[in-house]
Amino acid sequence: MYLVLEFNYPVVHIDLEKIKHNIGLISKKCRNSGMEPVAVLKGTNGSSEVARVFVDAGISTIADARIGNLKAYEHIAAKKMLVRLPMLSEAADVVRYSDVSLNSEITVIQAIANEARRMNKQHEVILMIEAGDLREGIYDQEELFSIIKKITNLEGVNLTGLGTNLNCFGSIKPTNENLGRLVELKQEINNKLGIDIDLISGGSTGSLALIDNGEMPEGINQLRIGTAFFNGFVEVSLPRLPDTYMDTFILKAEIIEIKEKPSKPFGTTGVDSFRNKTEFPDKGIRKRAICAIGKQDTEPRFMYPVNEKVELIGSSSDHLVLDITACGENFAVGDTVSFILDYVAIMRVMTSGHVRKLYI
Ligand SMILES: *Cc1c(COP(=O)(O)O)cnc(C)c1O
Repeated sequence: MYLVLEFNYPVVHIDLEKIKHNIGLISKKCRNSGMEPVAVLKGTNGSSEVARVFVDAGISTIADARIGNLKAYEHIAAKKMLVRLPMLSEAADVVRYSDVSLNSEITVIQAIANEARRMNKQHEVILMIEAGDLREGIYDQEELFSIIKKITNLEGVNLTGLGTNLNCFGSIKPTNENLGRLVELKQEINNKLGIDIDLISGGSTGSLALIDNGEMPEGINQLRIGTAFFNGFVEVSLPRLPDTYMDTFILKAEIIEIKEKPSKPFGTTGVDSFRNKTEFPDKGIRKRAICAIGKQDTEPRFMYPVNEKVELIGSSSDHLVLDITACGENFAVGDTVSFILDYVAIMRVMTSGHVRKLYI
């Protein structure tokens, strides 16, 4: 894939001990409130090193959005959950590499059941319910009841749970009301169809807020969490979870240019390479550094310089521009600058083949 087979930078340092600490703390919080945590690892691109830490820390179900990543966890002793609705075309791999999947389409569930019978396996299905965030989930109650009846007549699959996802697409926060609706549905299904559904699965990270403010509905017994395990973030409007580490993924990028330059671009103004028009304030001549990393490898808006006096000014695909005037360090070309990564940057860096991964 590369012309150079080895490279030093950029590199991401992944602190497995700090992640393990976060996992211990958050799992305990969930279990103390009657919920079994499921670790959603889709941000780390099938890293079996990271997955192993979750299992070592006592997590029994690991989840991912991509079947290819679950395949990478094949030899890790944990239950595997597929959290993105399966593609009809991947039904066989869903059965091969996961034990349980989140679903909303009966045609896909039927295909999974067919494959499961063929492979002599039993696959668990959690039905996703639309609770307002308007991503995946069944909205119509008649459809829900009809799907449930069909599943109970299918061999190869077991209906084990109802689930919902919030906070991901439509910016709808988990509340006592929308999560509580799942618990009510469980009751209605029991009353009307005589079926008792074991698991009521909530998510995502933002749901942790309900534990602290005492709003988590009784009856939610599983919580699918990703982000909080990695950096202790729950929601932008809330403080981070106390005693968690945020600096679990540190990116180091190499400086390729240092120059004194004006802070305001000069010449005729148009748009940048991402078709944005940015206003740059005129702060006079500043000392600027360019690091060899860019939007192709990361999401700069989700990167925080370890030295808080380094200012991240902007980026293009392969260049990250910094103001180092006030940073107090005597940087030279060839030095590296370190950044704490937030979730979106972690995900981008982990999927980039141009960033070296170093586990510590
Ligand atoms: C991503 C995802 C999660 C975890 O989300 P975080 O915000 O990272 O905690 C949970 N459930 C589903 C269905 C997801 O897609």
